[in-house]
Order: sequence, then C-alpha cells, then structure tokens
Amino acid sequence: MVFTSFMEQALSEARAAAKRDEVPVGAVVADAQGRVIAAAGNRTRELNDPTAHAEVLAIRAACAALGSERLTGCDLYVTLEPCPMCAAAISTARIARLYYGADDPKSGGVGQGPRIFSHPQCHHAPEVYDGIAAEESEVMLRAFFLHRR
Ligand SMILES: [Zn+2]
Repeated sequence: MVFTSFMEQALSEARAAAKRDEVPVGAVVADAQGRVIAAAGNRTRELNDPTAHAEVLAIRAACAALGSERLTGCDLYVTLEPCPMCAAAISTARIARLYYGADDPKSGGVGQGPRIFSHPQCHHAPEVYDGIAAEESEVMLRAFFLHRR
C-alpha cells in the first residue's frame, strides 16, 4: 500500500532524528502524483530553533521544491500527532491529507488539546487519518525518552 511506504520513510526520518539526539519524529510530503517531494526529521536542537519540527521542515522543503507557498493536493505523513504550531502550518499550506502515527496526549493539537482543524478560524482542514504505524512510532519515542532520563 502506498501510504504504508510513505509512513515507512517518515519512520526512518524519525530514527535518523533519534541518532542525532533529537526527539524521534519524522515527516514526508508527497505530491498529488504520489511522489515524495520532501522528507525531514526534528532538528530543534541542531538548529537551536524551537520551530524546527519535522512537519515544518518538510513543509518548507516541499514549498521550496514546488516554488509555491501552498501545497495544494499534497499529503503529509508524520510519525506523531502534530502539535498546534504544526497543525496551523499544515492548514496554511493547504495540505490535502494528513496521515499520522502515534497520538500525542502531551503536545498534540489535532485529535486532542486545541484541535486546530475544528476551529472556525481554521480556513482549511485536511482529511485526517490517524493511528498509522502508531505502535512503531510510540516504541521509538518511549525508548528515546527512557534513554534520556
Ligand atoms: Zn510541531
């Protein structure tokens, strides 16, 4: 299945992030033809940038690749439920479909917390598919935080 392989690539970005001592989250943007146009993992520590979440970096790279401020018709795959900041960026980028893995009870902003996409001020909501390869993502996150404490 196509989306499984995209999530597989997002998971490998997450694994690479963990190796850089970053929170293991990975994201992939695929265009309307199903081609990967950007992939990224968290780099907040490396870049000293609290906004350098995997989703933001992948969206920036995808926009640069397309030469557009919008990603109309594109899909985003991310291993963890996006936070409110990333959810707002996903909306602003006009992402068509969001596929994510594990829920994030602590910082998630899609299925819980502020539920960004259901706000009246949210002008574009993607179709959302959650729980994709969630277990693999959760295991990775748990191992990472266990290691750091
Ligand atoms: Zn985020």
